[in-house]
Formats: sequence, structure tokens, C-alpha cells
Amino acid sequence: MPRPHFPQRGNGASSPGSLSRAKRPINCPVGASAIGSVRDVEHCEECGFTWGSVANGAVAGRIAAGAEAIADLLRAEPAPAVRHPLPDRWSALEYSAHVRDVLLMMRDRVVVGLVEDEPGFKPMYREERVDLGLYREDQPLNVADEVVVAATMFGRLFGLLTSPQLAREVQYGYPGPARRTIAWLGQQSVHEVEHHLDDMRAMMAATDADPA
Ligand SMILES: [Zn+2]
Repeated sequence: MPRPHFPQRGNGASSPGSLSRAKRPINCPVGASAIGSVRDVEHCEECGFTWGSVANGAVAGRIAAGAEAIADLLRAEPAPAVRHPLPDRWSALEYSAHVRDVLLMMRDRVVVGLVEDEPGFKPMYREERVDLGLYREDQPLNVADEVVVAATMFGRLFGLLTSPQLAREVQYGYPGPARRTIAWLGQQSVHEVEHHLDDMRAMMAATDADPA
């Protein structure tokens, strides 16, 4: 699978050359060609998510519901979750660990955005986390708990934010460099959870179809 054409800033350029690319995710296929302008309507063609449709007050609940659904999948079928039924796609477990890490990272990005004026962020190195084996010891039942905790932590903090805080802007590299509001960080977090929940369901269905 080709590299995403919208890498996070500096992500690919600084990747160690020895990293395996065997489990590249389709993660967030919201390329510049798939969405409207940053200030217009942003829509994920793959999962149908529309950023502007999520009200600030709905962010925590949507994230919590998605995380619970992810946890339910992992708890119901922990063994298939570790399999890679499709080439060049993460396992359901790896998607869930990614969501956990995204939520923890986004929570910190919100904090930085509240303190600094228009900060930029380091990439999270999503592929490297898998390629370097950093999820190797993650177990489905552990990650099920952790993704719910991460969602709870994000939602609790996000729920504290005032309207002026939600309107503060940050520099964001995804899907292309742009000024984003902290409110958008909340919407983006919802998208990450819901999009990858769909990915997990696809991996589980593919595993069911080819259980070998
Ligand atoms: Zn999506």
C-alpha cells in the first residue's frame, strides 16, 4: 500500500530506514482530495464522518461511546483481534492501541493549545509505534480497559473548556498544514475513534471470513 499522501509533518522524512512497512494502516484516509477546504465542509469519504457536524457538547459522549464499542469488540473476540487478516493493514488490536495513544496525545495537545499561542505539534509517529514493536506486549483485554480510560480522561478535560478556550487556534499538520481550533481537535478525536472502530470491525469480519 502506498504511503499516505498526507503524512504528518516530518513523519516520513524522519523515519528510520530500517522500519518494516508491512502493517501500514489505511489510517485516516482523509487526503486533501477527499475533503472540502479547511474552513468549509470536511468530510471523510471512507467512514462518512463530517467534522462540523459534531457539537462541542457531543464530543465527550461520542468518544466514550466509540471507546466502549472498541472495548466490547476486544473483550468479545480477543483472539481474532491480534490477527492480520488483510495485508498492509493493522490488526484490530493495533488499531485499538492507536486510538488509545491518539486520545492521550490529543489530550496533551489541547493542554498545549490552551497555554501557548498557536503552537505546532510533533507528529505522533503512528506507524513507527507499530513498526518498532511498541504495541508488542499490548493485550486485547488490557487495551480494552486502557482505551476506555483514555476516552474518559480526554472527555473529562474537554468538558471543562470554555467557549473562548475552544476557539483558540493551533497549527496542525493533518491532513495538511492549517490553523485549527481546539474545538476541531475534539472533532478530530471523535473521527479517530469512530473511523478506527470501523477499521476494527472490518478486520474482525475479515478474520471471520478467513479464520486460518
Ligand atoms: Zn473517516
